[in-house]
Amino acid sequence: MLTFDKLYSQGHEEVVFFSDPSCNLKAIIAIHDTTLGPALGGTRMWPYKSEDEAIEDVLRLSRGMTYKAAVSGLNLGGGKAVIIGDPERDKSEALFRSYGQYLESLNGRYITAEDVNIGVEDIEHVFTETNNVTGVAKMHGGSGNPSPYTAHGVFRGMEASCQKVFGSRSLKNKVVALQGAGSVGRYLGERLHKEGAKIFLSDISEKNIELFREVAPGVELVGVDEIYDVDCDIYAPCALGATVNDQTIGRLKSKIVCGAANNQLAEDRHGDELKERNILYAPDYLINAGGLMNVSIEFEGWSEDKATRMVDTIYNTTLKIYKIADEQNIPVYQATDILAESRIESIKKIKGHYLGNLGHRFPGRKKR
Ligand code: NAD
Repeated sequence: MLTFDKLYSQGHEEVVFFSDPSCNLKAIIAIHDTTLGPALGGTRMWPYKSEDEAIEDVLRLSRGMTYKAAVSGLNLGGGKAVIIGDPERDKSEALFRSYGQYLESLNGRYITAEDVNIGVEDIEHVFTETNNVTGVAKMHGGSGNPSPYTAHGVFRGMEASCQKVFGSRSLKNKVVALQGAGSVGRYLGERLHKEGAKIFLSDISEKNIELFREVAPGVELVGVDEIYDVDCDIYAPCALGATVNDQTIGRLKSKIVCGAANNQLAEDRHGDELKERNILYAPDYLINAGGLMNVSIEFEGWSEDKATRMVDTIYNTTLKIYKIADEQNIPVYQATDILAESRIESIKKIKGHYLGNLGHRFPGRKKR
């Protein structure tokens, strides 16, 4: 159940319910923290079993977006939206346009994008009604598919992790156990192949494995459960969350865990255990922020150059986080939260400065 106690304890600013029975729209938007800028996060469509389940999901995901934007150096806050419904049955032009009209009423405090079960074509309908949307098609001035940028960021994270563990950022001759040959996995595989890494791959989709082979010939296939036993330098989870868990952690032989998946640690204690086992854990929500960085520049005019340069910063930020973890002798996941929280806190303080322009702050009054 949604209570103010819950919102206070997790720091959410606002939760909005949008309903339109004419098109069966049931949407919940959670704005977590807008200290750094407007809240940006995707809209997810899912047949939630209950409204409570949808509320829990949107609160958790929106908070995650605040941390992701903060640690990535973006001037954005955290937000997320869920639409309760079956994507196969309930999608319609009217539903997304109605949703877009409601988004417009938030006056830019929340900006949306694609997420699970929401594609570019759905976003185009939202875009008909509001500008507060990113991830629109390139032909409409958008940034298109975020996956290549996510993969580029994961690659930079791998380089930073190799620098820390092996003293060189090169991936040449490194052995990578890659789980997932989907949109991100394929771009990442292509890059690793070009750099001269050896790849072991697992996936449940024959089609995606074949597509992967086209960009990274020489890849060696392993079973879906065998990926955890591969003798490798890097385990790269690019399919599902929570794959570092009680069943897998003792089997990992890698020195680094670095991949695109969200929430790779089943629980925080698995991050502590990776540290004890001397396995370096690349901070997942920074490493996979390339897609978010890419959409974030749509408003100022997207260019491939700008997007790539921004994603390149993941290399230095990752090393900064490793330094904090070493200096404070804490696990990487804690160091990542510390960096995100300290940026929000420091910006909150400077916002308290009086800027001497009353006219600007109160547009109805003229400054004499
Ligand atoms: P995707 O759906 O295109 O690919 C996922 C792949 O994983 C598919 O090929 C699927 O067959 C495979 N898979 C599913 N279960 C598997 C299993 N048990 N073992 C091995 N493979 C399995 O997704 P994506 O866009 O490539 O994203 C990959 C991960 O990265 C996801 O967890 C996603 O949330 C995260 N992520 C993606 C982006 C992005 O820009 N696409 C951004 C941030 C985070």
